[in-house]
Amino acid sequence: MLIKNGKVVIFEDNDVKVKGLDIKIKNDKIEKIAEKIEPEKDEKVIDATDQVVMPGLINTHAHIAMSIFRGTFEGCDLYTWLNEKIWPIEAKLTEEEVYDATMLSIVEMISTGTTCVNDHYFFSEKIREALEESKMRAVITRVLMDNDGEKASQQRIEEFIRLYETRDEENSLVTYTVSPHGLYTCSGKVLETARNLALKYHLPIHTHFLESTSEIADIQKIHGDTASNVLKKYFDGIPTILAHGVKLNAEDIAILKTMNVGIAHNPISNFRLGCKIADITTYRKEGINVALGTDGQGSGNNLDMFETMKLAALAQGGIHEGEERIGSKEVIQMATINGAKLLGLDDKIGSIEVGKEADIILVDMAPTLDNVKRIPNKDIISNLVYNTEGSSVITTIVRGKILMENRKINHLPVEKILRQWKHS
Ligand SMILES: [Zn+2]
Repeated sequence: MLIKNGKVVIFEDNDVKVKGLDIKIKNDKIEKIAEKIEPEKDEKVIDATDQVVMPGLINTHAHIAMSIFRGTFEGCDLYTWLNEKIWPIEAKLTEEEVYDATMLSIVEMISTGTTCVNDHYFFSEKIREALEESKMRAVITRVLMDNDGEKASQQRIEEFIRLYETRDEENSLVTYTVSPHGLYTCSGKVLETARNLALKYHLPIHTHFLESTSEIADIQKIHGDTASNVLKKYFDGIPTILAHGVKLNAEDIAILKTMNVGIAHNPISNFRLGCKIADITTYRKEGINVALGTDGQGSGNNLDMFETMKLAALAQGGIHEGEERIGSKEVIQMATINGAKLLGLDDKIGSIEVGKEADIILVDMAPTLDNVKRIPNKDIISNLVYNTEGSSVITTIVRGKILMENRKINHLPVEKILRQWKHS
């Protein structure tokens, strides 16, 4: 396959650049990038004139089956939202509902330019089934916690082991994490089990971390120590994905810097649950890797990573007055290569480079009425972050396979997936 005549977003010399380049994809990988590549006989050619060609977006924290909670429970704080609203309903969800809700999210992600998602949920064999049908890239898990007793906790651990042991080793599009829900919902016993599973299977840890102020006291009560000390005690040396990290203080940052951790920053979810916002400008300055996530739709509203990029950049202006802060170039990297690093997949994805697997999206920039917000298109990177929405993605490619072309997804029953929901 050949992508011709596009404006390509590349990472070069510690910078983000846009260049007119052709891209040749062969055997799932990017084989050649050059100013002009002629197609071979019978080769599929995508004409990307008036389109931006960029790495597929990587959502590093989501609960994709939570599309079922879209538009519910506005105005709660995190604890009320979890304890009184979400968990009682989740306890009654069926496998079929999780599958259907996952499929809806898959369609949402493919159509808005996300090519890889790091999920955190349950009924994960059903989630995997939907992901495998979709040909999307994903990192999945079965979430562990024991705040509701030993029996339920043991069952979760067994479900995780079954999920991992029944993996398809041929399918490298789906990989795994070990995921304690959070330090405020897991005892030391579960964290110890998570550590042992991560070491046994060589998997990263993925957990919620210091999202809300209430957690700080609860973690102290359960574990007798600060969150970062608890994290270090159990997961030092293990690659660890921390969702949120809103409440890090200087002491936390100093401890996290000694560990192999990075932050999945979810600004929309944090704002919606009234958690304030993570100071990612400082975290980055301190050398902590920051990537982006949407969280589930129950708190993040949708899975559109373009919205998340925009808010991630703008929100820093709400806490840094007259100081240097992140901008559109940093945010594009957070949504792509930093996400790949956080998930341990940066040898395969996250940038458009020869030898990497071809996870690529094409964004419409033609001078049409739909794109009036991006005219004049003087700064493509700025326009991608501040003036683009997921529906401007017209083609989505994962590992060299086209999942959406000209906004048509042909390998999934999209009409059925979209119309099965009751509307009010
Ligand atoms: Zn979450």
